Amino acid sequence: MKFSAHEWRGHFPLLANHPRLHYLDNAATGQLCAAAFDAVTHHELTQRANVLRGTYKLAEAADAAYEQARRQAAAYLNAASADEVVFTSGTTAAINLVAHAFGDTLQAGDEVVLSLAEHHSNLVPWQMLRGRRGVALRFIRLADDGRLDLARLDEIVTPRCRLVAVTHASNVTGAVSDLVPIVAAARAAGARVLVDGAQMVQHGPVDVAALDADFYAFSGHKAFAPNGVGVLWGRAEALAALPPFLGGGGMIGRVTAEETTYAAPPRRFEAGTPPIAQAVALGAALDWLRAQPWEAMRAHTTHLAQRLLDGLAVLPGLTFLGPREMTERLPIVAFNLAGIHPHDACQVLDAHHVAVRGGHHCAQPLMDRFGVEGAVRASLAPYNTEADVDALLEGLKDAQRKLK
Ligand code: PLP
Repeated sequence: MKFSAHEWRGHFPLLANHPRLHYLDNAATGQLCAAAFDAVTHHELTQRANVLRGTYKLAEAADAAYEQARRQAAAYLNAASADEVVFTSGTTAAINLVAHAFGDTLQAGDEVVLSLAEHHSNLVPWQMLRGRRGVALRFIRLADDGRLDLARLDEIVTPRCRLVAVTHASNVTGAVSDLVPIVAAARAAGARVLVDGAQMVQHGPVDVAALDADFYAFSGHKAFAPNGVGVLWGRAEALAALPPFLGGGGMIGRVTAEETTYAAPPRRFEAGTPPIAQAVALGAALDWLRAQPWEAMRAHTTHLAQRLLDGLAVLPGLTFLGPREMTERLPIVAFNLAGIHPHDACQVLDAHHVAVRGGHHCAQPLMDRFGVEGAVRASLAPYNTEADVDALLEGLKDAQRKLK
């Protein structure tokens, strides 16, 4: 199928409202697509009611829309059943859910394996669990190009390991994790696997069946959908084995003054009123995304990222964080310019209407590994064009003229 970035841009209302903007901060959040926009409007104007409680027609329509969103999310992930989809408020909430529900089944001496590439969302909850349960954390280290160093995996994933929690792709280096040996090592140890899919979902449908993990977390806002909603996918058997995390309405079987029995997944993990309109919009966005020509779109973003890497490579004093080649990586490029603080570079770029992020990107252990405080990060989506990349490169030359 043919793909045109200019046509694709037409599906993103904010970009039409900011024709001069070069939006290159897609790893932080993707712009809202029209399908999600329209779904929110339709829902709020015609179906707004609480879910799983009402018996009148409006509430039934809200229920149906919410459960359709669950099926749409399941389809995007190639999940075996919609009941494997738990709506959360985002990746962070999904990981915290597992850190509590699964974490509280662990004991002192059990081990959780992470990597040094993790976003703080997939690190801090496990450090907090260590404080509560006395589990030990072990880390997969990073090679010089930012990829996970899997050479001594068998020494890191020991028989005491209960969970391996790793990112599908780094939000700093763009490196895609080689999950096959990681899942194999976890399985050999009898451990569960959680994959942080926050970055991956923006770049096409994911196949959780092929990944063979137990949990997969992502946020709606990275997938061109609203914020305030996300998904925890869990293999049916893995979810069924978990106790609830939050207690409240909607997650119960029967409540007496003394005791509560719990609903089956996914409801067991959706206490309280969920983000209904946001979930409906996420479902609509994922449905629309699923029908897009991803092969052509990936070729487009890969071409842009290569153009960016080539343009950066000739700038004096430039250092990359992450792989230089475009295989097994997302179009996310992090770098530093000698003598220029990332925040200062971002400010000059803003004057050029280029929106990029500078800082530690919630990945301070990764920054420590490379001995830097932070980096400038440009992250590309299919609506970006060569003009966006060229504006960034021009802006950086200007920053070097002004700031050095
Ligand atoms: N994990 C990764 C790899 C991310 O890039 C992010 C956000 O940037 C998160 C987790 C946290 O996502 P959220 O803030 O939407 O919960």
